[in-house]
Amino acid sequence: NLILAFETSCDETSVAVIEDGNQILSNVVATQIKSHQRFGGVVPEVASRHHIEQITICVKEALAEAQVTYSDLTAVAVTYGPGLVGALLIGVTAAKTIAWAHNLPLIPVNHIAGHIYAARFVQPVEFPAMALVVSGGHTELVYMPAENQFEIIGETRDDAAGEAYDKIGRVLGINYPAGKTVDEWAHEGQDTFNFPRAMDKEDNFDFSFSGLKSAFINTVHHADQIGETLNSQDLAASFQAAVVDVLADKTVKALQQYPVKELILAGGVAANRGIRSRLQQELKAFSTTELVLAPLALCGDNAAMIGAVGEVLYRHNVFADASLNANPGLEFEWAADSER
Ligand code: ATP
Ligand code: MG
Ligand code: FE
Repeated sequence: NLILAFETSCDETSVAVIEDGNQILSNVVATQIKSHQRFGGVVPEVASRHHIEQITICVKEALAEAQVTYSDLTAVAVTYGPGLVGALLIGVTAAKTIAWAHNLPLIPVNHIAGHIYAARFVQPVEFPAMALVVSGGHTELVYMPAENQFEIIGETRDDAAGEAYDKIGRVLGINYPAGKTVDEWAHEGQDTFNFPRAMDKEDNFDFSFSGLKSAFINTVHHADQIGETLNSQDLAASFQAAVVDVLADKTVKALQQYPVKELILAGGVAANRGIRSRLQQELKAFSTTELVLAPLALCGDNAAMIGAVGEVLYRHNVFADASLNANPGLEFEWAADSER
């Protein structure tokens, strides 16, 4: 199967051509980061305008790079949520138009399922599986008993991990999105501040990062007031150590209660070197669970991961018609035939 996939949920316009759910023939990603940087975050109206300007160019490039034409395609897949409504609408409208014009089935894809299925480009997903999804808007542990079945067993009560990275990065003077640079600085510093590990010892799989964020900001502001300069690398290292500790501890606890064949680390923050190496360490204690780290280039938003889910849904006959709408607050739904 050849799937043309669209992703426009946030600030990346992306179009990909995916063969059989695991081969990337093309994956064009047009990022708008520069346009949002001066605002310190994504401005929805600016994002929508960029998507409109980029989408047709991205489709042309994706088809050309894959050396295919519309008539070679099997289906069109598109992210319809969660995300920014105006941004999602551009992808949904483009996908609907192409599906209609070329008489192709339309496949509606959940963006977070996409992040999880980025692992599909490393190896087949084996079930039951667990995914630790850490992105700009989500931090959750997702249990997957079978293909296309998702149960959120724990999630953040406030900020997402990526959001916390971006906010503390701003205090350190790092441009949006700050995660990658904070990660780099963290490796040059030491955990000297001992920031709080919220909910770490609680008997659940939930997370909270707003207390850590506040502790960080208060520490920096207090130092400013008394004219003291703190070491930015140590601040970054201390912040990252706290995030990695909680993410790893909760994941280990989840794996103890839900034995799985695979643990998938997914989402933009899955590119983090600290969490990648920590999970590699922790997984040594789980001889029957394999750790699957999405390729670095596929951790952030991209259409290839949407095409991977598209293939799964195609095989499950999950299609949408022309009434498909963007759903900014889309949540996972249990398949009707799921065994719980
Ligand atoms: P969602 O997927 O929840 O809708 P999103 O699509 O905006 O949100 P992603 O694009 O998946 O989020 O991830 C972006 C986030 O990943 C940003 O917050 C960014 O700072 C963070 N990030 C990227 N690289 C790293 C890294 N190496 N360490 C920590 N965070 C990182
Ligand atoms: Mg993004
Ligand atoms: Fe994302």
